Amino acid sequence: MNIHEYQGKALLKSFGAPVAEGVPVFKASEAEAAAQALPGPLYVVKSQIHAGGRGKGKFKELGADAKGGVRLAKSVAEVVANANEMLGHTLVTKQTGPAGKQVNRLYIEDGADIERELYLSILVDRSVGRIAFVVSTEGGMDIEGVAHDTPEKIITVAIDPEKGVTAEDVKALNDALKLDGDAARDGGTLFPILYKAFVEKDMSLLEVNPLIVMKDGHLRVLDAKVSFDNNALFRHPDVLELRDTSEEDEKEIEASKYDLAYVALDGNIGCMVNGAGLAMATMDIIKLYGAEPANFLDVGGGASKEKVTAAFKIITRDPAVKGILINIFGGIMKCDIIAEGVIAAVKEVGLKVPLVVRLEGTNAELGKKIINDSGLNVVSADDLDDAAKKIVAAVKG
Ligand code: GDP
Ligand code: MG
Repeated sequence: MNIHEYQGKALLKSFGAPVAEGVPVFKASEAEAAAQALPGPLYVVKSQIHAGGRGKGKFKELGADAKGGVRLAKSVAEVVANANEMLGHTLVTKQTGPAGKQVNRLYIEDGADIERELYLSILVDRSVGRIAFVVSTEGGMDIEGVAHDTPEKIITVAIDPEKGVTAEDVKALNDALKLDGDAARDGGTLFPILYKAFVEKDMSLLEVNPLIVMKDGHLRVLDAKVSFDNNALFRHPDVLELRDTSEEDEKEIEASKYDLAYVALDGNIGCMVNGAGLAMATMDIIKLYGAEPANFLDVGGGASKEKVTAAFKIITRDPAVKGILINIFGGIMKCDIIAEGVIAAVKEVGLKVPLVVRLEGTNAELGKKIINDSGLNVVSADDLDDAAKKIVAAVKG
């Protein structure tokens, strides 16, 4: 689960991290009071969407000359003018895809005088089995470019879980970021604070880009992207309250209601599979035959007819889906239950695209019979390879 920058900053502030004063704004009419509550004379008006690259982003509805999704303002009046221009409009960034995201919230922040922009993130480094800091002096707006062109400028410091952030770790991070004086002392308190927040809140990613050295020599967290481990959310009702479902994929929200493991993807072949491993294999084989899956979907082991119906509806609702592949290996899951679920869903929502079904295992014959007797226009397949070839051909043909 992801949260907005302003929520991430409030959370980090509660752990003692240095962040600017700021006020979230939901309506343009709130912008003036928000700016007046800040010291000035420099303000920043920041679009709150769950995607990075806002600074360099472009608003769809505004002209090509219009400024991006993060704007500096030098007066309360300028804050208000920018808020009016930004709220309700669609921001397209490198991370949103061409459709962009509507800006429904702004964060009005006290502006900082920046000396240097650094990069800092904390993540779970699977290669060493530890939580690690990833830092670079080349912070700001294009860390992906730095990683690609000059990977030596990105330094990783893994943390021993028993010791936490040690004095040596702090020194390694300060050296990597070329911090000295007040900034190095700030690092000595900030790095352990960020690590503590990461561990206590079960984050999966904490990215501060940029972490800045201000003209006065001190550090400040200028941007914050925080993602949480969904499997640990039950431990954090306070974090769950920060969820903004308007930022999430509607199909994924619907799937989570039925406890379906569903992830929306960019392709055009909808997949309904049981078992995560088989679902991955199904996606791989679709790609092998030259097409792209529209989703990952594991209906689970003991799925009910209702769950299968819901899953099928979620797949067909995606306008990008040009064909559906059902691939079931009945173990605990019975093939006839799948067949009944599919037929119930088709009766409700219709079937406008080709459907290939491969049923194998428990009650496979019964399942096939139910589908054949239904009069539905279904192509049946003998095995996974056959099924993938048939659905790819149907979609491309
Ligand atoms: P992102 O583009 O979505 O990553 O948004 P950021 O919050 O990282 O802001 C983008 C850029 O705006 C930063 O890299 C800074 O250069 C600039 N910026 C943001 N806040 C301030 C500020 O308080 N003062 C100044 N001078 N620049 C800022
Ligand atoms: Mg940023």
